[in-house]
Amino acid sequence: MPEARTSGGQVLPLLIDGRWRASAADHSEPVYDPASGSELARVPFATAAEIDAAVGAARRAFPAWREVPVPDRAQVMFRYKRMVSRENGKVIAEARGEVRRGIEVVDFAAGMPTLLMGETVEGIARGIDSHTVRVPLGVVAGITPFNFPAMIPLWMFPLAIAAGNTFVLKPSDRTPMTAVRLAELLLAAGVPAGVLNLVHGGREAVDALLGHPGVQAVSFVGSEPVARHVYARAAAAGKRVQALAGAKNHLVILPDAADWDLALQAVMASAFGSAGQRCLAGSVALPVGAAAEPFLERLARAAEGLVAGDPLDDATGIGPVIRQESKDRILDAVERGLKEGATLLVDGRRRVPESGYFVAPTILDRIDPDMAVAREEIFGPVLAVIRVPTVEEAVALVNRSKYGNAASIFTRSGRDAWYFRTRVEAGMVGVNVGVAAPMAFFPFAGWKGSFFGDLHATGKDAVRFYTETRVVIERWE
Ligand code: NAD
Repeated sequence: MPEARTSGGQVLPLLIDGRWRASAADHSEPVYDPASGSELARVPFATAAEIDAAVGAARRAFPAWREVPVPDRAQVMFRYKRMVSRENGKVIAEARGEVRRGIEVVDFAAGMPTLLMGETVEGIARGIDSHTVRVPLGVVAGITPFNFPAMIPLWMFPLAIAAGNTFVLKPSDRTPMTAVRLAELLLAAGVPAGVLNLVHGGREAVDALLGHPGVQAVSFVGSEPVARHVYARAAAAGKRVQALAGAKNHLVILPDAADWDLALQAVMASAFGSAGQRCLAGSVALPVGAAAEPFLERLARAAEGLVAGDPLDDATGIGPVIRQESKDRILDAVERGLKEGATLLVDGRRRVPESGYFVAPTILDRIDPDMAVAREEIFGPVLAVIRVPTVEEAVALVNRSKYGNAASIFTRSGRDAWYFRTRVEAGMVGVNVGVAAPMAFFPFAGWKGSFFGDLHATGKDAVRFYTETRVVIERWE
């Protein structure tokens, strides 16, 4: 199996044209273990010539790869599915869950022969038939964030490649090791040289891909300001682009959600799972009317009981955030909330191990909707509580958000659930579900400031995104 040898603090390699090679970059940065702060490896910031070489390799590989019959391309994904096994970073059970969700996309990609089926109408005129086919675009560039280092690259390249495209992946410079492993396994599954290429870096690498004439389409997932930049720049360069961005997700808890266990577990997992570093993380809780007292009392107790520590230890309830800067930013957001008048219901700032970048669950109560903690993405284990009198007011508050990724309601009332799911401005809606994460055969459907583009990631949207439609009209007499 072609291995990249990534252990022991070494500089990570690039994958260009089927070969692992050391970058000539003079700039590299440490990749840290966020649980201890120790250095795991170094990530090189690839040079412009290396980015160009990666796109060039993908371009040269495209004509032959598109000719490989689609069932054979799907076979690569069947073999790949058996190989993707590695976990990285977060609390071990969540890491296993992440890899499982990624593998579901590989499964979906293995169904490409069916997904590529077109439409046919015979006899559109006398002696004339017409049909559609889906053809690959060429070279696709994928740019991914740190928080799902396995799943998000797997949203992209298995589908793009199974559809007949070639791919250049630029993973987060904070979690590049998982991407190296994903690429090693794809080579081992038999994908030809140049079909998947891997480059490392930050803004310059991204900009080089966005402006490169050899790239036909760009899939991006990351923060809102960068998503806007990627969308504008790639679109201006004439590329097809989908840019999945940040979020501020709301959880509405109705009094009839009692006996509370389901809502409590779901809100805990949504707000504090992955240490809040999830684009579907619930970060504003809206208890309605009489729900507030009984629900918050139980929630505070559960949040205080979640122990921060080693992500590989089964007893750990919450792992670290990704970097010291993230921790500082999260603590600043809490401080700002307190200055603006919030009440500290649970203080997670000090109940943490000394080394590593930990923040324990923190709950800010009596939040005003205009405060920054109610509006801005914090991307950490901080839950803001806004008490509201009615479900209508809850929906109105959710809809004030500039984001529109996910929103959930906890209730036994069909009427309230119906009202919520038909009125709320969010692309992923949970009814008695705290993390409304679509399965691979549905689109990951952010709205408003959570998504820039037309066709979403995964599901049939992704198949349409990674292909062009051709309409054929035939006359044979
Ligand atoms: P980020 O925007 O900092 O980085 C994402 C990618 O962009 C990385 O590969 C990074 O190297 C690159 N990048 C960073 N700054 C750049 C710049 N100025 N110009 C060009 N490229 C740049 O995001 P992150 O911190 O890695 O990830 C967390 C963010 O991603 C959160 O906002 C989260 O909500 C969002 N996210 C969204 C979804 C979704 O489906 N909507 C999923 C996961 C994460």
